[in-house]
Amino acid sequence: MKGKIFLLLILSAGLVSCNNVQQHKERKSAAVSLNKPADNPLLMATLYNYYAAEYQALCYQAYNVAKERVARLRKEFPKKKNMAVVVDIDETILNNSPYQALTIEKNSHFPRCWDTWCQLAVAKSIPGAVSFLKYADSLGFQVFYVTNRSLKLKTATMKNLRKDGFPQVTDNHIYMRTTTSNKEPRRQAISKKYDIVLLAGDNLGDLYEASAKYPLRNQRVAALHNLFGKKYIVLPNPMYGTWPAGLGLYRKKAPVDSLLKVMTKSFGDACR
Ligand SMILES: [Mg+2]
Repeated sequence: MKGKIFLLLILSAGLVSCNNVQQHKERKSAAVSLNKPADNPLLMATLYNYYAAEYQALCYQAYNVAKERVARLRKEFPKKKNMAVVVDIDETILNNSPYQALTIEKNSHFPRCWDTWCQLAVAKSIPGAVSFLKYADSLGFQVFYVTNRSLKLKTATMKNLRKDGFPQVTDNHIYMRTTTSNKEPRRQAISKKYDIVLLAGDNLGDLYEASAKYPLRNQRVAALHNLFGKKYIVLPNPMYGTWPAGLGLYRKKAPVDSLLKVMTKSFGDACR
């Protein structure tokens, strides 16, 4: 019992360092469900996005393809001035795996300390992202940043982007979340003046209005398969997004057993 109280005190002390009122309100509820970091289902995904050379390679791959696309478009339309590239921010051009690591270490969850992390403006750029957007900028493309970070984080987000060397980080090139996390209205607002020729994101909603539900979400991807690597550039993010929500993984009673059963049905009675 003494050990348990000690652990709770350590957890509480760590959370006090986060400068956010909401975090303090939630502290008590999180402290009742302690998990060791090694037991946290986010662990492998978070380590992958920070340490894996394969993750790094996938990002370079995505942005190398994106570079080829804008080069080809510029060649096809040498004088077109209104071509635009739209990118999401989190896990598309900025890597927030250190924030995920904090939630694992503190046994907490989003949104606790998220604002604090964003205000620090220390997120590193995703491999290849700065180089691609600088290249698009040099070819005369408009660059728009469309993010679901809240409006109050705009200044800190711009500071982070500028620090990392991203181009066109100006007030009217950044669309924060105001009323809805659906990005379609913001894409439509950009489309009134510009021709969006390429979009990059780690979540399908960064590219088009996507269903959250499995398998509809996957069926649409199959139907649009020709557009990936052309109009749509996808970055890997196994840590979070709409995909786990679509599988019901954010629910209290997540259907983990039935999801695994579907995957292992081809074994039949073997290895049971
Ligand atoms: Mg994102």
